[in-house]
Amino acid sequence: MADCLFCGIVDGKIKANLVYQDERLVAFKDINPQAPVHILIIPRKHVAGVLDVETSDGALIGEIFQVAARLACEQGIAESGFRIVVNSGANAGQSVFHLHYHLLGGRRMAWPPG
Ligand code: AMP
Ligand code: ZN
Repeated sequence: MADCLFCGIVDGKIKANLVYQDERLVAFKDINPQAPVHILIIPRKHVAGVLDVETSDGALIGEIFQVAARLACEQGIAESGFRIVVNSGANAGQSVFHLHYHLLGGRRMAWPPG
């Protein structure tokens, strides 16, 4: 989608530190990390956010969690623990309107989240 930052990363027009990619997904390091490990996992296809996920996206969403688990193992945070976050809308602080899953780890997380 034109003017979408993460579509730009998918297309290679905007540089990112990629850590994983396949036919449907791309994962890259967050530019402003909130934890020692902070990776964003996104679908290649433009989905604006959680509210736009369709039933036919079920396999895609499942794959996102599989990739998150794989990356957690690769990054050495599987045993210590990690958090997967999806922000939706203003109150949650969503700033990029292309569905993305934050994979955070490498430090103790607070609960409830801020
Ligand atoms: P959210 O606030 O949930 O919409 O998350 C958007 C995330 O994208 C933030 O954590 C940003 O730091 C991150 N971000 C923004 N621009 C880039 C970029 N060019 N490369 C990597 N991460 C980015
Ligand atoms: Zn997009």
